[in-house]
Amino acid sequence: MDARVDNLTLSVAEILDRPGEYRDLRLARPVEGVATGLARLEPVPVEAVLRAESVMEGILITGSLEGRAALECARCLTPFSSVISVDACELYADPAKAPPDGDEVYVIEGLDIDLEPMLRDALTLTLPLHPLCRADCRGLCARCGRDLNKGSCSCVEADTDPRWAPLGDLRARLGEKTQ
Ligand SMILES: [Zn+2]
Ligand SMILES: [Zn+2]
Repeated sequence: MDARVDNLTLSVAEILDRPGEYRDLRLARPVEGVATGLARLEPVPVEAVLRAESVMEGILITGSLEGRAALECARCLTPFSSVISVDACELYADPAKAPPDGDEVYVIEGLDIDLEPMLRDALTLTLPLHPLCRADCRGLCARCGRDLNKGSCSCVEADTDPRWAPLGDLRARLGEKTQ
């Protein structure tokens, strides 16, 4: 049966130094401080299904996390919300086995591991840096600021987009050849 963890500190006293032993756990807890420029984790519980497995070097944590993020579209600035999920696989090194060499991010403290930094890091890396409300969001007009998802503005029709100019040239040349 899965152990239910009420805080984010997990005792590994029963499995430490017993390679192959493991404990499955589920937790549902908000994780604070997860945010990037246009995204932040909502203060609803993050659902995590994790396995803590004793290995030679310490405790290996594997499993999956799921939370909900409040996002702002990078093109049209509309707020929206999205489920984010990520698989975790991180080692908590046992300082008694080898002195921490600086590369090891997570370390067993006594007989406990603090899951919070691992959860926070994994979720932060999953937040999109360039969230889009939908893949084909048309964004805002750079000139008048109108949301182009709600209809085009008059600036678009008045200007020829310089990005299309080479295509116009190509079309003209192809036209010459086929004539
Ligand atoms: Zn958008
Ligand atoms: Zn415009």
